[in-house]
Amino acid sequence: MNNTRRLLALLSTLETPCTNCKNGTVDNAEAVEAWKQRLNDLVPPGSGLPNPHSMTGRRYYDELQSPPPERTACPECSGSGMTLTEAGRAVTGFLARHGNGAAR
Ligand SMILES: [Zn+2]
Repeated sequence: MNNTRRLLALLSTLETPCTNCKNGTVDNAEAVEAWKQRLNDLVPPGSGLPNPHSMTGRRYYDELQSPPPERTACPECSGSGMTLTEAGRAVTGFLARHGNGAAR
């Protein structure tokens, strides 16, 4: 095994796929439902579109233009999709203490 393969094998022991998400994102259905509810509160279904110059109309169209994303970055892995293993935490701790590269 050459040095590059050894290093890659070692690096693969430092992190593991996040168990809280899929590829770094989590479902954001709760925020999407809250957004739909805000729209329905402003303009109940079946009541027609509001006058865009009215207070309700301005709020409705502003809200309509900023829907939340269907998925958001996972809070556990900050969207990377990977979390540190115990060895990974040890290495990042080492780097935090000595990672500026300055030999003292
Ligand atoms: Zn995650």
